[in-house]
Amino acid sequence: MPKTHYHSSGKYAPIPLTIATLLALPASIWCGNFYGAQTGSYNPTIAAEMGLFGRILAMSFWTAALSLIFYLFKRYNHNRNARINVGIGVFLSLSSWLTNWIFYCNMEMKGIHLVELVMVALPLSIMLMMNYYCEKCRQYYSSTSIFILDSGKFYKHARKPADYDFLLDLVMDMNQLPEKGPAQPKEIIKIIFYYCDSCGSRAIVDIDSYTWSQSSKHSYWKKESYYHHRSHHKSVISRQGTVVQGAYLGDEAGRNLKAYLVG
Ligand SMILES: [Zn+2]
Repeated sequence: MPKTHYHSSGKYAPIPLTIATLLALPASIWCGNFYGAQTGSYNPTIAAEMGLFGRILAMSFWTAALSLIFYLFKRYNHNRNARINVGIGVFLSLSSWLTNWIFYCNMEMKGIHLVELVMVALPLSIMLMMNYYCEKCRQYYSSTSIFILDSGKFYKHARKPADYDFLLDLVMDMNQLPEKGPAQPKEIIKIIFYYCDSCGSRAIVDIDSYTWSQSSKHSYWKKESYYHHRSHHKSVISRQGTVVQGAYLGDEAGRNLKAYLVG
């Protein structure tokens, strides 16, 4: 039976994985240490002066820095094994968090440290995220997004399950999201088209349904005269549900769709 949906191969290369981990570990520890120095883990005077807002801000930078480390880690080592990625992610997050405990002046668990633990755990979602990967060319897929504003047309075609080659028949209905939203909210279809830059074969689509509406007429923080035409009725979309995730297109349909959408 031919594969109709993407499944991660679970493969990984041990050497790049080891190198990436050895680079990510000191970086994660450094982030934790830097956060500790800024918020006074080693100095009670700084800790006392630090307001809650400052602490939350410092924490957000910590989370952002870890997210960046995790992103680079994944990009570099091409590990397609989610379990290993999450395992290493937990190890890195904990290392970053525990750094402050090793040098901490008075070891006393407070609520704020639990909040810190949650914040350093947030970037783990990056490790869980599935990134489509071309095993033949050893590279991640690129992607582009497009909308079908007439969802009725889409559903009329979408009767046969697990075959989305009909999308090629709808290229004339594919648009970028217009700047202005519709007077009445309506359902639209968002297609994320994934393709391998090198070989172009085995293209993948993620399809979601969205509600498309317009922003309210008056934004109280904007001066009406300036933005009269630009700020009114802007497109707003909110995700409703998943139609399909990771569905392969046939080779010919994929290539043609790539030619149309990407060039
Ligand atoms: Zn490829």
